[in-house]
Amino acid sequence: RPLNHSSPRSSLHPDRMSSFQDIVDRLRTSFNSGKTRPLEYRMSQLQALKRFLDENKAAINEAMAQDLRKPEFEVIISETSFVTTEINVALNNLKTWTKDEPVAKNWATTLDTAFIRKDPFGVVLIIGAWNYPLQLVLNPLVGAIGAGNCAILKPSEISRCTEKLLSDLLPRYLDKDCFAVVCGGPQEISQLLDKKVDYIFFTGSANVGKIVMAAAAKHLTPLTLELGGKNPCFIDNGCNPTSTANRLAWVRFLNAGQTCVAPDYVLCTREMRDQLVPALKATLEKFYGKDPQQSADFGRIINERHFQRVQALLGSGTIAFGGQCDAKDKYIAPTVLVDVKESDPVMQEEIFGPILPILTVESLDEAIAFINRHERPLALYAFSPNSKVVETVLERTRSGGFCGNDGLMHMTLPTLPFGGNGQSGMGMYHGKFSFDTFSHQRGVLLRSHGMEKLNTLRYPPYTKQNLSL
Ligand code: NAD
Repeated sequence: RPLNHSSPRSSLHPDRMSSFQDIVDRLRTSFNSGKTRPLEYRMSQLQALKRFLDENKAAINEAMAQDLRKPEFEVIISETSFVTTEINVALNNLKTWTKDEPVAKNWATTLDTAFIRKDPFGVVLIIGAWNYPLQLVLNPLVGAIGAGNCAILKPSEISRCTEKLLSDLLPRYLDKDCFAVVCGGPQEISQLLDKKVDYIFFTGSANVGKIVMAAAAKHLTPLTLELGGKNPCFIDNGCNPTSTANRLAWVRFLNAGQTCVAPDYVLCTREMRDQLVPALKATLEKFYGKDPQQSADFGRIINERHFQRVQALLGSGTIAFGGQCDAKDKYIAPTVLVDVKESDPVMQEEIFGPILPILTVESLDEAIAFINRHERPLALYAFSPNSKVVETVLERTRSGGFCGNDGLMHMTLPTLPFGGNGQSGMGMYHGKFSFDTFSHQRGVLLRSHGMEKLNTLRYPPYTKQNLSL
C-alpha cells in the first residue's frame, strides 16, 4: 500500500514507493535473518557512517549553514566530530561490550553457566530534533548499530536541508536492508508511530515526548525520551566576572541559543549581577563584535515561527543590552534581560533562543529553593570559587546532568551518561550508555542435560528434607 503523503516534505521520502509498514517489514526480515549480529557487520556499518561524515564535510556544512547559519567550527565540535568520537569509542570497545557477562552464582546453580547476553532489540526508531539536526539522529544510531539493531531514522522536518542531506546521502553508505531514513512532519510520524517497532529513541520537546510515549504504550514499546526544559545557572558571589561571562556566554549563545543544555536563566545576587552584566557585554563584543548580525560566528533562529516566539519573550523584564531583531534575517541579537520576575513569560517556557534572563536572589538557599520548585532540568550549572558551594547545589538539587564552573562540558565526555530526569526525559546515552540503551540485557542460565539427581531435591512430593534446604 503506497503511503498517501499530503505534506510537500514527503517528496523527500527516500522510500517513496514503500509504506512505513513495508520499511518496518523489510528491516525486521533482515534483523530476523541475523545479519546485524556479527561484530564485523556492526563495525563495517560504523566505518561506513564515519565515511559518510568524512566524505560529505562540505555538504554537511552547507546544509547546516542554510538551516541555522551554523558556523563551521560549531558544526565540527557539536555535530560531525561529536559523532566521530562516539563512533571511535564504539569501534574501540565493541568487542568488550558485546561479550557475555558472567555473573555470581548460588549453591543451586553452582554447576551451571550464568551470564548476561547483550541482545539487540530489533528494529528501532530514532526521532531527532532540529537544533543539532545531524548528531541527534546519528549519535543514537551509533548505539543502535553497535548493539546490533536495525534502525529507522526520522530527522526533524524543520531543519529541512539537513533532513534532505541525510535522506539523500546516508542510504548510499549504510546497508539499505537494515537502515532507512524517513522524512515528514507530525502527520507522517503519527502513521509511523502506529507501526510496531522494538524500541523508540526520541529527542525533542516534552509535549511531543508525551505523544510519542502514548503511542509507544499501545505496543508496550520501550523508549528513551531526550527532552529539554529550563536549565538554571547559579552564580555565586566572588566569581571572576570575566571568566564566568566567557563560559556562560559561549554556552548560552552557541547555535543562537538553540541548545538543549544551554543555561536558560541565571540566579545570582544583585551585587554579582552588577558585575556580570558589564562583563557579559564585554565578552559578547569580544566574541561577535559590535554588531553580532555581521559576525560569521553567530547563528540564526531556525524559522519564522520560532523567531516570533523568541522575539515575544524580549518583553519580559528590562533589556540590559541586545534586543535587536531582524525578521527577514531571522536574527535576534544576543540579549541579557534583568529585573525579570519568576512569573514573567520568559520564565514560563524553555527560551531556546539567544536571551539570557538574570534573576536576583538573596542567598544560596533561596537559589536552591527556586530551582527545586521548578521541573527537573536537563542540565544544572553552579559557578563558585568555593567548591563547597558547588557541592551544595549538586547535593540539594536534581537534574539530568550537572557541570560546576562551566556549561555543557559535561556532555562532551562519552564516559558520562547523558539524559534527563523527570520532565527533561528518561533514559541516557553516549559512549557505553548508548550501547546499553539499545541492548536488552538477557539473563541466561545454561545447565547440563544430565545430573538429574541433583534436581530431585526440588520436586514433589515435598518432605522434611525439602524444608531443610
Ligand atoms: P519537537 O518535539 O517539536 O520535535 C522533535 C521531533 O518530533 C521532530 O522530528 C518532529 O518531526 C517530531 N514531531 C513533531 N510533532 C510530532 C507529533 N505530533 N507526533 C510525533 N512526532 C512529532 O522538538 P524540536 O522543536 O525539534 O526540538 C526542541 C526541543 O527538543 C527542545 O525542548 C529541546 O530542549 C529538546 N532537545 C533535547 C535534546 C536532548 O538531548 N535532551 C537535544 C536537542 C533538543
